[in-house]
Amino acid sequence: MKITETDEALICFSEKSDGDFSLYNFDTDKIISLWNSLSIVKERRLPLPVYLNQVHKDGIIVSEEHNDFLCKNGDAIITKTPMHTIGVFSADCLPLLIAGKNCAAAVHAGWRGSKLNIAGKTVKKLVSEYGASVKDLKVFVGPCINECCLEMGNEVFEEFLAADSLYARFFIKKENKWHLNLRKLNRYQLCEAGVIDSSILDLDYCTYCEEDNFYSFRRQKKRNGSMFSFIVLKNC
Ligand SMILES: [Zn+2]
Repeated sequence: MKITETDEALICFSEKSDGDFSLYNFDTDKIISLWNSLSIVKERRLPLPVYLNQVHKDGIIVSEEHNDFLCKNGDAIITKTPMHTIGVFSADCLPLLIAGKNCAAAVHAGWRGSKLNIAGKTVKKLVSEYGASVKDLKVFVGPCINECCLEMGNEVFEEFLAADSLYARFFIKKENKWHLNLRKLNRYQLCEAGVIDSSILDLDYCTYCEEDNFYSFRRQKKRNGSMFSFIVLKNC
């Protein structure tokens, strides 16, 4: 588990060693026992998380109370409630955890969501919903499939260009294949939405390269295990 802490929030990215966190596949008893097996959960008495039925789009869900795990369709979840755990699943897609002074967000940004600028839209939603100051936001960028391993077909490259011609700068061509840099793309989108570049902390691990530490959908060639990235606002 990679754990970071700010004055306002606790930020956690699970790893393979924490177990398979495909909570959407498990029954309630298994979810509870898995959750309570985490040291950070015991130490900080973190409540059970809420999460989404992630659909690789740009839906942003507001969640202020624990409500049967809140499995609504969406790819970002925001809250202003202290001690309310929100999180996203990933196994190559990019998880972003955003901490504001009185609000937080967890974002699932795969290439499809990134094409729709889910990171920038979530920042704007924190401002419109909670009056967050973008200058105060800190963004934690978790493990994802890096440019080294994220091969894309020409049709995907074309889709990105159609969304915004500036997106070409986040692709490079290697051995006749496009490679997308999800980290740089999301950093650009966050900064365009007003986040300060130095407030974006990138863990920069490649899920595909680092087999011992992370699940990777592409490496495994199927859905076979997920990390869970979660954020909790502290009681201040
Ligand atoms: Zn790699």
